[in-house]
Amino acid sequence: MSYRSWFNEHGNKHKVIIDKLIAADYSKEMIIEYFDFENMVKHENDFCVLYQEPKKCHDMEKLNCYMCACPNFRFDDEGIKPYADKTIMSECDIDNGEEFAHDDKIHQNCASCTVPHHEAYVAKNFSLDWFEMMGECDIQIVKTKETDK
Ligand code: SF4
Repeated sequence: MSYRSWFNEHGNKHKVIIDKLIAADYSKEMIIEYFDFENMVKHENDFCVLYQEPKKCHDMEKLNCYMCACPNFRFDDEGIKPYADKTIMSECDIDNGEEFAHDDKIHQNCASCTVPHHEAYVAKNFSLDWFEMMGECDIQIVKTKETDK
């Protein structure tokens, strides 16, 4: 699956949940709490493949899933830029995490970073619109918007 397919699919799933919670009169705080890993496993099992085991993507006692993927993640399915004989496909805008190479491509590995999974971070960067929160992630879309200005 391409980055963009996953990204769009995930954002659309997020919107379905948000629409449901807004219709039920949830406040911002209640919405953030709803996205706590344990609650999501119970009530939104299709939201993430890891819920089925269930298995946390990061070893945190309290893990919040509201901002998965992460506003700092950057990707381009056609490649961000060349690096030596490889192409960087994704990276972190604040230089957290690590990279890994697969064939001739380099990808961002967020396994060691918990930034977007803390409730305080979610509250500070909160929007009901997931695509707005992730507005800088898809580099091709950012470039298209800049060209259209
Ligand atoms: S390394 Fe952390 S901050 Fe960077 S994109 Fe991954 S989860 Fe986000």
